[in-house]
Amino acid sequence: MLKIQNYINGELVSPVSNTYLDNYNPSKGEVYSLIPDSENTDVEKAYNAAADAFNGWASTPKEERSRILLKLADLIDENHEELAKAEATDNGKPLFLAKMVDIPRASANIRFFATAVIHNPSESYHMEEGYTNYVLKQPIGVVGCISPWNLPLYLFTWKIAPAIASGNCVVAKPSEVTPYTAYLFSKLCIEAGLPKGVLNIVHGLGTSAGDAIVSHKNIKAISFTGGTATGRIIAKKCAEEFKKVSLELGGKNPNIIFDDCDFDKMLKTTLQSSFANQGQICLCGSRIFIQEGIYEKFKTAFIEKLKSHKVGNPFDTETKMGALVSKDHLEKVLSYVALAKEEGGKILFGGNRLTIEGFENGYYMEPTVIEGLPFNCRTNQEEIFGPVVTLIPFKTEGEVLSYANSTPYGLSATVWTQDVSKAQRMAKNLDAGIVWINCWLVRDLRTPFGGVKQSGVGREGGFRALNFFTEPKNVCLKY
Ligand code: NDP
Repeated sequence: MLKIQNYINGELVSPVSNTYLDNYNPSKGEVYSLIPDSENTDVEKAYNAAADAFNGWASTPKEERSRILLKLADLIDENHEELAKAEATDNGKPLFLAKMVDIPRASANIRFFATAVIHNPSESYHMEEGYTNYVLKQPIGVVGCISPWNLPLYLFTWKIAPAIASGNCVVAKPSEVTPYTAYLFSKLCIEAGLPKGVLNIVHGLGTSAGDAIVSHKNIKAISFTGGTATGRIIAKKCAEEFKKVSLELGGKNPNIIFDDCDFDKMLKTTLQSSFANQGQICLCGSRIFIQEGIYEKFKTAFIEKLKSHKVGNPFDTETKMGALVSKDHLEKVLSYVALAKEEGGKILFGGNRLTIEGFENGYYMEPTVIEGLPFNCRTNQEEIFGPVVTLIPFKTEGEVLSYANSTPYGLSATVWTQDVSKAQRMAKNLDAGIVWINCWLVRDLRTPFGGVKQSGVGREGGFRALNFFTEPKNVCLKY
C-alpha cells in the first residue's frame, strides 16, 4: 500500500515514531494509503531544517526565488492529470472539478506570488527637516501554514507560495483527511530544485502535528484555513506567544435573489454555489433568500434542475457531485438534516445518504433542499458544510439584510438583481468580506480575501499576503 512520507530538509522521510494513519478513498469508503502520524519530534526536525535554510533563502535574490517557484508552477501543469486524479481519489470530488479548478488554481497561486514578489512596492517618506524614511519588508523567519481538506492543493499552495516567495522558510501541514496531493507536490519541489529546508511538509493529525506547529516557540507566524472552532484554539495559542496570525474560517453565506434578477443566469449559478464540491466550499451559499414574487417559480425550477444533477463515482464524466470527504463528515451533515426536520423544516428534495452501485461503501449523499425554517434557527445559523441549502422567502431589502447578517459568520454573500443601486446598497450593508453581484466564486488573485465576524481575522490575496509574511521595518536617515 502507498505510504505517504513527510518532506523534511529536502527529503521524503518516515515519521520518527514510524507510525502511520489510514487514508481513505471516500468514493469507495476504503483505505488506500497510509500517512505519517507525525508528532512534536517530526515538527522539531522540520523546524530545524527550516531554521538552517532561512538565512540562505532570505538572502537569495527575489528573482531567483521567483525562478524556482515558476518552475514549480510549470511542473504542476505538466503533472495536471496525475494531480487531478489524486485529488479526486483523496477527496471524493468529481475529477472534472479537480481538473478545472483545483489543480489549475494551485499552479496559478504559485505563479501569481512568484511574480507578485518582484513587484511588491515599498514605501518611503521624506521629511522637510532633512530626514528620509524608507520601509524594508523583511521575511519573518520560520512560519507555519495549516490548510483544510476541501480544496487541498489549492489552499495549501495559496498559503505557502506567498510565504516562500517572501523569503520565509515554512513548516506546513495539509489536512490529515486529504494529504495525497501535498505529498506529490513535495516530489515536485525536489524536482524544481527548491533548496532543502525551505519548505517542510509534516503530515498528521491537527491535534498533534498541527498543534506542535502552532505551539512551537520559534515558529513566528501562523497562516491557518479551517473551521472556526479550530481557529479559536489557534488564535488563543498564538496570542500567548504574540505570534502573527491569519485566520480564514467558516461561513454561512447568504445567496440573495431579488425579483428583478436575470433568472436563468441566477438559476444556473445558484446550482453551482449550492452544490459545487458537494457543498464543501467555504464560499457556498447555503442560505438562499428569495424575494416573494419569484419564490414559487424559483423553487420549482431549482428542484427540476436537481433531478438531473448526477451524484456518483468522481471519475465518471457525467458526475456533478461526488462523495463527501469522510464518514464522520457525512454523518455530521446528515445530523443537520435530522435537526432541520426537528426544527420543523420540510425536505423538498434529497435528505438521504445514497448508495451507488459498485461504490456501496462510499460517502454519497443527495443534494438537499429544505424550506419552512425561520432565519434564526440552528439549521440557518450553523455551518453545515455539505450539500444542504435552505430556502427562505423575503419581502423587502431591509428584511433580507437583517436575515443575512444574523449569523456569527461573515465570509461571503451573493446578490442577484438588475438594479445597480440596490446591488450596491446591499454590497455596502452586508456583513461579509466578499460580495458577488450577479456572479459567484469569481476570483482575481490581487483582491483581498477573508471574512468578518467569526469568519476570520486578516486578509489573504495579492500584496496583502506578501505583507503578512514580511515585517515592515522603518529606517530613518538624516542627510
Ligand atoms: P479543521 O479546522 O478541522 O482543520 C483545518 C486544519 O487544521 C487541518 O489541517 C487540521 O488537521 C488542522 N487542525 C485541527 N485541529 C488543530 C489544532 N488544534 N491545532 C492545529 N491544527 C489543527 O477544518 P476542516 O479541515 O474540517 O475544513 C473545513 C472548514 O474550513 C470549514 O469550516 C470551512 O468553512 C473552512 N474553510 C474556510 C475557508 C476560508 O477561506 N475562509 C476555505 C476553506 C475552508 P486534521 O485534518 O488532521 O484535523
